[in-house]
Amino acid sequence: MIEITFPDGKKRTYEDGTTALKIAESISNQLAKNVLSAELNGKIIEANQPLYESGSLRLFTWDSDEGKRAFWHSSAHVMAQAILDYYPNAKLTIGPPIENGFYYDIDFGDEVFGEADFEKIEKQMLKRAQEKAEFKMRSVSKQEALEYYKDNPYKTELIQNLEDGTITFCDHSTFTDLCRGGHIPNTGFIKAVKILNAAGAYWRGDEKNKQLTRVYGISFPKQSMLDEYLQRLEEAKKRDHRRLGAELELFAFSQRVGKGLPLWLPKGTALRERLVKFLQEAQKKAGYQQVITPHIGHKDLYVCSGHYAKYGKDSFQPITTPEEGEEFLLKPMNCPHHCEIYRVKPRSYKDLPLRLAEFGTVYRYEQSGELHGLTRVRGFTQDDAHIFCTPDQLKDEFKKVIDLVLYIFKALDFNEYKAQVSLRDPNNPDKYIGSEENWQKAEKAIIEAAAEKGLPTVIEYGEAAFYGPKLDFMVKDALGRMWQLGTIQVDYNLPERFELEYKGADNQMHRPVMIHRAPFGSMERFVAVLLEHCGGNFPIWLAPDQVIILPVSEKYHEYALRVAQQLHQHDIRALIDERNEKVGRKIRDAEVSKIPYMIIVGEREQEHNILNVRKHGGETLGEMDIPTFVERLTNEINSLIPQFTNP
Ligand SMILES: [Zn+2]
Ligand SMILES: [Zn+2]
Repeated sequence: MIEITFPDGKKRTYEDGTTALKIAESISNQLAKNVLSAELNGKIIEANQPLYESGSLRLFTWDSDEGKRAFWHSSAHVMAQAILDYYPNAKLTIGPPIENGFYYDIDFGDEVFGEADFEKIEKQMLKRAQEKAEFKMRSVSKQEALEYYKDNPYKTELIQNLEDGTITFCDHSTFTDLCRGGHIPNTGFIKAVKILNAAGAYWRGDEKNKQLTRVYGISFPKQSMLDEYLQRLEEAKKRDHRRLGAELELFAFSQRVGKGLPLWLPKGTALRERLVKFLQEAQKKAGYQQVITPHIGHKDLYVCSGHYAKYGKDSFQPITTPEEGEEFLLKPMNCPHHCEIYRVKPRSYKDLPLRLAEFGTVYRYEQSGELHGLTRVRGFTQDDAHIFCTPDQLKDEFKKVIDLVLYIFKALDFNEYKAQVSLRDPNNPDKYIGSEENWQKAEKAIIEAAAEKGLPTVIEYGEAAFYGPKLDFMVKDALGRMWQLGTIQVDYNLPERFELEYKGADNQMHRPVMIHRAPFGSMERFVAVLLEHCGGNFPIWLAPDQVIILPVSEKYHEYALRVAQQLHQHDIRALIDERNEKVGRKIRDAEVSKIPYMIIVGEREQEHNILNVRKHGGETLGEMDIPTFVERLTNEINSLIPQFTNP
């Protein structure tokens, strides 16, 4: 008999050789029908594998990451089988599951595989899936494995690196693959498939090697899930910030300026400045003081901070002065500069907390392949601040930062968020600097601050930086994707390295603690996330243009101008479409540029000194006079920006 422990702690005994599926059946038929994969004592097993070992069992359905992984791993086998059905000479290499779906890297030899071939492979996969073939694992000797793959140099290379006695194959239907296991019970679970893409990929990621074809696919247990997924993918494409950024003329890139160095266009700059102002106002109320530091710093500064030793080689190389040969670095971080501001004069406990804020532009080298729109760039502006405080002030300061971050999320309509608390790895205490007492204090302060603020958190052990624990914020966007934004980080290291001190109430010198915090992360990243979240339909207080006036003909340009002037007097951003186009065309174009309000003016409007108002998206508000419209808009704008109150 074997004794199985379930995640809730309950134990039951079963006959030797019972499978995870049978165990699921003993709980409920419904569960048995949905089990895709299982784990025994922390190791992924086949759901239909006989068990001879007692231990903790977890059963995975589609709703878990493990279940999806087994599903997509198995689907990769079925895709490879379907491809071999059509291309018997294709050579398989590796085919793992990924975050969304799976891929297989394949050497098609002289044949070309492209979009035109996707549909026949999808059909063949479904045909194969309907066979409901079970996945069966078997052990093979190294010699057998090499013999089986004697015509496939890729698998041969993989097998050569494996130890004899550990090699397993998986068979299903007509197909066999070198595989470590982790499959769904049978192919029949696969009800919907889509080949998403075929792209070049080098064997083992090395461009000196042969180029293979990476075939991406995704599969689901229901057709409706695939439909929904494809719809979301389409929507995500429409909301891609790189596309919207160009369409709305917010930012651009120029190869001549350099990769990963964004150029902010006038509308993007205005948007960014509004975000900066919004944050500055909140920070001012929260007791921050604004500072400005240079874009470069002496190499010694970063040697002192430790950044040079850690990142120097992998970042932009020093700039040397022509006469003295002094070395300067592009600023990779603002913190060392702020430490020097702290050191400008002697500090007493009465000066703390000292909160220094800077919209500081930093430069970090990223490999060109890693660059992506505004989310991965080489030059970016952090909404940075450093708080220097006493260890006892840590928790309070943390809570205040959380307040500020949540205020920002609320104002920008990110209603779902969570935070990750990153703590020390308890098994590896030597990895961290700072006293045990301080670490305990800081970890406790973060956990308590988050709990007291009602912040949903997950705790990750071993994810802390070597110099202190941290809290990272993740927001969910309108398409359900999670983005990491701001971070709050405790640091014992820099105050030590810069020998920062304050005179305590006891007249003794003490070391302050430092908090790094950036609620947006960076202006670039934040604008990218915001664009994808709102699909370019910014909240009206941020929108580059709030109102567009559409005169029905040239005759009404003068009236349009008068309206615009009155709106400008009330700080409403309005522009006039003066083109000689039909009003229908003007409305369509205004819709594309996502301007929240359209005002149509013609003979009737001019005569009665009124406006004909339409909202973006088609809703018509009809006629109203100018003061009514101004009041309506001003109220709307004010209602969207909650005032930051420092509790
Ligand atoms: Zn497999
Ligand atoms: Zn910092």
